[in-house]
Amino acid sequence: MNHYVDTHAHIFAEQYADDFEEMLNRCAEAGVDQIMIITLSHDETMKAVEFAKKDPERFQVAAGIFPEDVKDLTDEMWEEFKETVKDPMISCVGEIGLDYYWEKDPEVRALQREVFIRQIELAKEIGKPILVHSRDAMQDTFDIMKAHHTRGLLHCFSGTKEMAKEFTKLGYYIALGGALTFKNARHSVEVCETIDEKYLLSETDCPYMAPTPFRGKRNEPSYIPLIVKKMAEVRGVSEEYMAEVIHANWHRFLSGENQ
Ligand SMILES: [Zn+2]
Repeated sequence: MNHYVDTHAHIFAEQYADDFEEMLNRCAEAGVDQIMIITLSHDETMKAVEFAKKDPERFQVAAGIFPEDVKDLTDEMWEEFKETVKDPMISCVGEIGLDYYWEKDPEVRALQREVFIRQIELAKEIGKPILVHSRDAMQDTFDIMKAHHTRGLLHCFSGTKEMAKEFTKLGYYIALGGALTFKNARHSVEVCETIDEKYLLSETDCPYMAPTPFRGKRNEPSYIPLIVKKMAEVRGVSEEYMAEVIHANWHRFLSGENQ
């Protein structure tokens, strides 16, 4: 059986409240045995940390201040966050980044950049990689990640293949998800086709972005094989090979070796 990785899953979202255990069983049956739980609030982080402790081989936790939440960030919250992310159960800082799609106010966008940089510097200090969200803000994201260089990945990458190449030149990984399977996917397919395989990762971004044929429905990590299948098709390799490459990439990413 192939082993799969979901590098971006919001499994503590309310959408799984009713069938959490069944959902996890489906993941295990599908061979999705590496799940990065993305958390966006202190409560959610603490819940995920307690949960992941029971099976740290299978579950990792990431904590970050999301771009849409920077307006509400107080000094107390920042101090608390700084302490929380040091927890050894938290292996990444994320998701963090810029979202100009939802945020049009230039002042708040500037604040997003400031909080993004602050979190990158914190991640460097504590030696953890970053998971980056970037929507309609690709150039600013790139400029910041170049100037404040560290280890990290671009989640749900929506940029061009040229941009993906620029990121991988700096050692950043590219995670692709359900959008790759959509009929109108062009950029994602080109990115998947052209990037150096050692930087490619799979993700769901569940509960959103379900791959075809579940598009529009609730997403979950057990759908990762559909995404990896599409990646294998696009790259002209076997699913088995693709799954192995992604697994190796993920371990290299987390350990920070050869970077
Ligand atoms: Zn997310």
